[in-house]
Parts: sequence; C-alpha cells; structure tokens
Amino acid sequence: MNILVTGGAGFIGSHVADAYLSAGHSVLVLDDLSSGSKENVPSEAKFFQVDIRDDETLAQVFGGQRIEIVNHHAAQMDVRKSVDDPVFDASVNIVGSLNLLELSLKHRVRKFIFASTGGAIYGEQESFPADEQHPLRPLSPYGITKLAVEQYLYYYGQVHGLSYVCLRYGNVYGPRQNPYGEAGVVSIFADKMLKLEQPIIHGDGNQTRDYVYVDDAVRANVLSLECPHSDVFNIGSGVETDVNIIFQKLKSITNAPCAEKHGPRKKGEQLRSVLSYRKICSMLGWSPQVNIDEGLRRTVAFFSQKR
Ligand code: NAD
Repeated sequence: MNILVTGGAGFIGSHVADAYLSAGHSVLVLDDLSSGSKENVPSEAKFFQVDIRDDETLAQVFGGQRIEIVNHHAAQMDVRKSVDDPVFDASVNIVGSLNLLELSLKHRVRKFIFASTGGAIYGEQESFPADEQHPLRPLSPYGITKLAVEQYLYYYGQVHGLSYVCLRYGNVYGPRQNPYGEAGVVSIFADKMLKLEQPIIHGDGNQTRDYVYVDDAVRANVLSLECPHSDVFNIGSGVETDVNIIFQKLKSITNAPCAEKHGPRKKGEQLRSVLSYRKICSMLGWSPQVNIDEGLRRTVAFFSQKR
C-alpha cells in the first residue's frame, strides 16, 4: 500500500516508516522538520518537507500521489508549550489535522491512523489502569487538541465513512527520541548520564507513567492497517513506573556516578498514569513484548553509540 506518514522525521513516526517499508509498503514521509530530523527519514521513503498547516502545499502532495493510508504522527507534542501557547498548539494539532482529514476524504484514503495520547487525554485518573471507557478530562491544551481530533475522526467516520484507528500511547521511549526537549524523561536522563551531567527529577519523583517501548508502539501501527473497523485503543504496558525508578535503572545501566537530585515540581504535572491494553490485545492480538529493563538497555545502547 501507499502510506503517508506525517511526522515521519520524528521519533515514533520514523520507526513507523521503517516498519511499513520492511512490510513491503511504499512510504511517503511528510514533516516540516520543526523537531524532527532528515537523518531519521528512511532513504527508501519519498520525503516532503511541508507544514501540515499549509493546506495548499498539502493538497499538491495528495494530488500528485495515490495515498491509500494516512498515518498521522506530526504534532506539536510538548505539553508545556501547549500551556504557554494554546493557539499555536491548536493551529498545528487541530487545524493541521483537519487539513489532512479533508484531503483524506477528497482523495478517498482507505484508513486514517492517528497518534493520540493515553496520558494527557484522561487527565488525573480515577481508576487504574485506565481503559478506553475512562472519563476524558484533559488538563492541558495538548490533551484537549488530541481529544478534539479523536472527536473529528468520529464525525468523519460516522458522517463521511472514513475508517480510522486512534492509538492512545502511554510514554513511548526508545532510540531517536529527542533528549533536548521537555518531554521524554528516559532519553533526557540517559543522555545526561552518559555525558556525566546531573539529571534533575522534578518534584519527589513519585509521579508514575506507563512506559512503552517504541518497537511495541510501532507494531500497533502495523496491526492497525488490518483493523476491520474504526476504533480507539490504548497502547501501554499496563505497568506503572515512577521517575525515581527510571533514574535508578538508568544509573545502573550507564554506571553514572550521579546521585538523585530533585528540583521543583512542574505545575500541573499528572501524578499517576497507567493504561490497560486489554482491548487491543483481545481485538488485534497486540501486547507489549519489550519490558522496561530491556527497553532501557536498548535505549542506552543507542545513545552511547551516537556519542
Ligand atoms: P516528535 O517531535 O519526535 O515527532 C513529531 C514530528 O512532527 C517531528 O518530526 C516534527 O518535525 C513534526 N511536526 C511538528 N509540527 C509539524 C507541522 N506543523 N507540520 C509537519 N510536521 C510537523 O515526537 P514523537 O514523540 O515522535 O511523537 C509523535 C506523535 O505521537 C505526536 O503526535 C505525539 O503527540 C504522539 N504521542 C507521543 C508520545 C510519546 O511518548 N512520545 C505519547 C503520546 C502521543
């Protein structure tokens, strides 16, 4: 199939592009390189440097290619930036996504796969692990824009017959994750420890997340191609891990001499997050294959090789 991967120069999107190519599909990568990098784009993929807010250039890309699947990973994905500038966040994450949805309808795209969030969309959880029926109470503009796109997808599905799959990721980590942003505690800590710099744990470090290794997240994108109906799935490990544990595990893998150092708690940071993957397990046979220790080892190996 001919698959457009938006955000395919970024962390998760580039691994998704690799996997689709390995499965024998043709891949087009569309990315404005605002946080992604050209070196992540597989050489066998056609590359278009386009901002998803630029509807005219997007229309030319769709007009010139016979796109069968849209896999949408491009996003403003920094929660704190979304708090500082919700208008910018909405322009990329809502308007940009709508541009892609409109063109997908016009060009009769067979399926739209959307990278949503299982952390920010539920807000502070009231049950653990959260399944897909958990109330949706995002506490950041980023979470709101992801929820908005899920709801647009429901509308495009119901009213216009567009097939879609929303993947609500936990905290995806692994090789190629940007260690210089605000997000991605694993890559930030691993990079700092390898450089013998001091990582700072925000607050007491007891805040928990559901860490899912990138290869597992990618496999969900491959299985989604065959999903017989439109649906929404959590993609997580079902395991709750706090930041202090991540720090200790990385310290032991990297042999870094640093001690735990804590800084002020980030305002509005969620306390606990953990996802149930039962639904996708029963419907598509997906379950995580890489546990946190193995995933952290692979991630550290990647960052050590890069140095
Ligand atoms: P990333 O920043 O590495 O990838 C995002 C890509 O989108 C980058 O290559 C960037 O250049 C591109 N992009 C940004 N704005 C664009 C625009 N206006 N036009 C075209 N391209 C643009 O981040 P990631 O961690 O790989 O995240 C990928 C997707 O998965 C995002 O939609 C994110 O919201 C979602 N997600 C990620 C996580 C996680 O833990 N990493 C968790 C939940 C959801």
